[in-house]
Amino acid sequence: MNKHVRLLRAVTFAAEKHKDHRRKDVNASPYINHLTAVASVLAEEGAVTDEDLILAAILHDSVEDTETTFEELEEHFGKTVAGLVGEVTDDNTLKKEVRKQLQEERAPQASPRAKQLKIADKLCNVRDIMHNPPAAWSIERKQEYLLWTQRVVAGCRGVNGQLEKAYDEAVNQALGFLRTIPT
Ligand code: NDP
Ligand code: ZN
Repeated sequence: MNKHVRLLRAVTFAAEKHKDHRRKDVNASPYINHLTAVASVLAEEGAVTDEDLILAAILHDSVEDTETTFEELEEHFGKTVAGLVGEVTDDNTLKKEVRKQLQEERAPQASPRAKQLKIADKLCNVRDIMHNPPAAWSIERKQEYLLWTQRVVAGCRGVNGQLEKAYDEAVNQALGFLRTIPT
């Protein structure tokens, strides 16, 4: 199968799986927009050419947020892609605070590819906090979220300098912007 067919199948698969799923911004943007944004950040800003990593970006929230299984991912897209998605998937049976703490603790042990995916995901979420934030979030909650992404990304460094620089610029801009808003 040529690489374009494989990528288009992943986008189609993710669009179908996430079809009833929306982002938390005021317009409830379609979830697929986030998935293509993460893959685009890797390819354009991180200069990633690794096809499995781009596919994993498109599929990164499918197991966490839909009824998709790792077996399905492996069957359609192979062991490497399923394994990468596994590395960035939280265990939803755990409480949210525990899941967030585990992301911080486990980031340094992730593979170099999974680290790049984590940075790209956090970068997109940081940009969303700035431009399309969750509708009900206070400034404090946005700040807490940004600081948490910094702690996770701290455990992912050393894998892609361009991506790390883009993340740093985005998070510093977002933190600076929030500081200008009177509380
Ligand atoms: P959540 O985990 O509930 O939400 C953030 C996640 O939502 C992102 O990681 C992203 O995940 C997804 N998402 C969907 N839409 C958007 C969007 N438009 N912009 C950004 N992200 C979006 O948030 P947290 O629980 O992490 O809350 C942030 C901080 O606030 C925490 O540090 C927590 O301690 C604190 N908190 C404060 C509360 C308060 O009332 N003050 C209550 C609860 C928590 P993905 O890409 O995986 O979909
Ligand atoms: Zn995501």
